[in-house]
Amino acid sequence: MIFGKHINKYYFKYAHMLLLGILALLFVDLLQLEIPELYRMIINGIEFGQVEVDGEILPFNMSFLVDEICRPMLYIVLAMVFCRFLWRVCLFGAGIKVETDLRSRMFNHSKTLSQQFYHKNKVGNMMSYYTNDLETIQECFGDGVLMFFDALLLGTLAIAKMARMDGILTLLTLIPMVFLLIVGTVVGQYMTKKWEARQEAFSALSDFAQENFSGIAVVKAFVKEFRELWAFRKLNKDNEKANIEFTRASVLLHICVTMFVESVICVILGYGGYLVYIGEFNAGELIEFISYFNSIVWPVMAVSQLIEMGSRGKASLKRISELLDTTVDVKDKEGVSDIGSVRGDIEFKNLTFRYPEADYDALSNASFKIKSGENVGIIGKTGSGKTTIVDILLRIYNVPDNTVFIDGRDVNDISIQSLRKNCAYVPQDNFLFSDTIEHNIAFGLDDYDVAEVQRFAELSDVHGNIAEFSEGYRTVLGERGVTVSGGQKQRISIARALMKNASILILDDSVSAVDTETERTIISNLRETRRGKTTILIAHRVSTVEKMDKIIFVDDGKILAVGSHEELLVASPEYRKTVELQRLDEEKEG
Ligand code: ADP
Repeated sequence: MIFGKHINKYYFKYAHMLLLGILALLFVDLLQLEIPELYRMIINGIEFGQVEVDGEILPFNMSFLVDEICRPMLYIVLAMVFCRFLWRVCLFGAGIKVETDLRSRMFNHSKTLSQQFYHKNKVGNMMSYYTNDLETIQECFGDGVLMFFDALLLGTLAIAKMARMDGILTLLTLIPMVFLLIVGTVVGQYMTKKWEARQEAFSALSDFAQENFSGIAVVKAFVKEFRELWAFRKLNKDNEKANIEFTRASVLLHICVTMFVESVICVILGYGGYLVYIGEFNAGELIEFISYFNSIVWPVMAVSQLIEMGSRGKASLKRISELLDTTVDVKDKEGVSDIGSVRGDIEFKNLTFRYPEADYDALSNASFKIKSGENVGIIGKTGSGKTTIVDILLRIYNVPDNTVFIDGRDVNDISIQSLRKNCAYVPQDNFLFSDTIEHNIAFGLDDYDVAEVQRFAELSDVHGNIAEFSEGYRTVLGERGVTVSGGQKQRISIARALMKNASILILDDSVSAVDTETERTIISNLRETRRGKTTILIAHRVSTVEKMDKIIFVDDGKILAVGSHEELLVASPEYRKTVELQRLDEEKEG
């Protein structure tokens, strides 16, 4: 069984299943404890030719065998089969339901966590929360309840029956169990630590594997397969070591349990045999007593498994709780309202921004205005703060009050969801899902017309490429399907953003992988389709943005100049220098 902040409520939520399961379990245990009496009757019947049943002496013959032994045994077996089926469905079913429920909660919470969280927590680690840790919780809940109640019910009932037969013999059998409990508690604590270490080792291993498979092209290109293999082997060894340490403790516990159980059997045989010798017990009664003890062997074993499982469960629940308790740092403040549909006016006012845990400002005192309907280019060197500007606009990070405004309203007074609904975004490291091209393009919409998908693919100049695939728009991309080139990926992402038809469109370096001709077509199409709506295009080449209504020129986190290409040429010597350098570069390349 497992208890904790995030799990306790499930004992109430699934109380009906748990209660029914425990009732079925109690029934099975009661029936099971009827069997030793049948053993006694047979042994004594064979030895004495007569059997005592409820104080009455009956002859041991065929009709006794059928009526008092075989028929009750058959009923007991049938009832036990039915009840065992019932408790399995109820208790294991509840465990699976808890796992499903927790997984949904975790996924729901994970979605609200900030980009910063995902920078720190790698995918491999996240995946082990969702697989290993959840499986352990499921096991602890379903199997844990079963083991706890079975050990308790069967153990108590069997001990009561044993005590009724002989108090001293029962006491002698229980002494080693006390030692077992002490050893179990100590080893259990050690095992919790070892399971934590094992989970961490597994996370590191899956992080590494996931990163390596994602970056396989780089590994191959640099012929670093061997080095990566060695690094993997080391992590695999660490994982093996952590597993072995946990298993060693688990085996030690198991051996202790077996040793205690065997020692009790010795006691029963020794003292029980003596009781038969002095005539206090007969052979049938000794067999009955041993059968009762046999039925508590499983509960005793279950105690050791409970300790082991509890240790794993505690460690896994701690990890899952860490995820569920991670505070959502980018969230709406109290009393924000939905902004509805925006015009697309944007203003940055003296914004100084530093990434959480960074040592320097990514933007210093940034101020600019974008009017709705404007086509704006943001240009500057790598690392100058261009992506930071759009990340802030999309409220991926927190900003101080009175620094960023949409349609004249402080972004901190607007709900994040309603703000993002008004924006369409093509990120720099654009991502396509392992799904059809059609679904990828229409990702932003719940309802769409297939003809519209094609229209936006044409506007992003990717329709020709898609038409060449044998399955066209139904072509599945990614791991299970076709791989598209960097340029095609960018254009499909642009089609996806365009189709959202939002008031503000942001393209972060989104035409870097297409040729100049295609770039020109896309930008001209953008101008046509985005008439009256705000479009922001981050670019490296001045030629990409020179025809835009406005250019924001960024350098080292500062906004150096804002204006049209011609205005900047006059007003900003740095911009002139950039233009000149890029022209020389192009001439050289040309
Ligand atoms: P650009 O888009 O112009 O290439 P960015 O806006 O991505 O530049 O980055 C601006 C600066 O902020 C860079 O120095 C970069 O290293 C830093 N930076 C970007 N993202 C983060 C982050 N998540 N945490 C800390 N620093 C960051």
